[in-house]
Amino acid sequence: MDAAVSQPQHQEDVERTLQQGFRLLRFPPALEQAFLQSLYAERTIKLVLAAVISSGLFSSILLTDLLMSDSPIRLGLMLRMGLFAPFVLTTAWLMHRMARPRLTEWLVAPMALVACAIVCLLALVGAQGLVFAKLTELMVIVIYVGVFTRFWPMVAIAVGAMAMQQATAAAIPGLEPGLQQGNTLLMITTLSFSLYASYVREHNARLTYLMGEREQALRASIHQGNQQLQDMARTDALTGVPNRRAFDEAMAQHLAAPPAPAMALLMVDVDHFKAYNDLHGHQAGDRCLCEVASTLSACLRRPMDMLARWGGEEFVVMLSRADEATARQVAERICTAVAERGMAHGRSPTAPVVTVSVGVAMWRATQPVDAEAWLQAADAALYEAKAAGRHRVVMHHDCGGSA
Ligand code: GH3
Ligand code: MG
Ligand code: MG
Repeated sequence: MDAAVSQPQHQEDVERTLQQGFRLLRFPPALEQAFLQSLYAERTIKLVLAAVISSGLFSSILLTDLLMSDSPIRLGLMLRMGLFAPFVLTTAWLMHRMARPRLTEWLVAPMALVACAIVCLLALVGAQGLVFAKLTELMVIVIYVGVFTRFWPMVAIAVGAMAMQQATAAAIPGLEPGLQQGNTLLMITTLSFSLYASYVREHNARLTYLMGEREQALRASIHQGNQQLQDMARTDALTGVPNRRAFDEAMAQHLAAPPAPAMALLMVDVDHFKAYNDLHGHQAGDRCLCEVASTLSACLRRPMDMLARWGGEEFVVMLSRADEATARQVAERICTAVAERGMAHGRSPTAPVVTVSVGVAMWRATQPVDAEAWLQAADAALYEAKAAGRHRVVMHHDCGGSA
């Protein structure tokens, strides 16, 4: 698809074309371009192969010229092998070299018409008995190109071949009218079948393309929907930060393949939040939780650190590459940042503004892998922070005592 055409516009074109049909075998310009481009490589191989085969076949008909004593052999040899073969091979080379899908389709027409002209010329130059055989050869050419030519170039070939057949028949003096009319009728029938076959084939190719594009868009939208559902299932609806499920998965991953020899877990809990809710109302409480979440998020500077809402007014932070000093630094930064946000509390015995308490627990590579014990240690440190008066950081005693 052309990069300049947006995907929704392309899809809209596909649906509209499927609805309205394409009886004239033309899509809207951008879609037409995308269609031709999508088949270009495959079509070029097909057409070049057909051109090379036709050059061989057309030359091999020399054998029939030889068998027919009336045939001008020298001229036939010159025209078939000296003119047609090089012309067709050069055109096939051009088809292969140029990146022009529409032109490639149309280049079949001059090839076929040159073959028709050669056959008509041989009919005119040869004896009268040869005419019927040569006009039959004209039909063979039409049937051959009808197998792989697109409909509109085929129309041009049909018109050209018909005109040449009529002109040749008229130019031969004393040709029996019955023979002439029978030949014309056969030619019309041959052209009609070839045009019909060419039309149906191209219509099917276009329909297959449109259905393929529709299916691809459907798959993409299902994939996108799944992605959105997965994201939703891992995001806390109120604050927009990852939820507990996302956190559990990340923690399991970190413990299965620790990215560093030491990691830290920070349990963060809003102080006296029930009282805040009671005073300001549940909706204000919700807004407060969002503010706290965005403050915590701003305190984490490395992409590998993770914040999640643990539940209620509790958040959890995992620092995936942190020693004790760093963990304490981040925890203190969180404590200070929430208070500095200056959300008036009104009923907290701790401070006039909303504050948080933080419990910190370390995990070291020397310890056995135990997610539950790590969480319990952080929770115990948080409990200590609450008991010690709130709005503070407590490091679990295993990792350096309380602050
Ligand atoms: P402490 O300082 O000991 O943590 O006291 P606290 O009042 O913060 O703790 P407690 O566990 O007694 O109360 C937590 C409150 O948080 C109770 C509940 O109504 C409120 N809460 C939990 N989830 C939400 C929420 O999504 N929105 C709102 N507005 N409030 C919530
Ligand atoms: Mg609380
Ligand atoms: Mg709590």
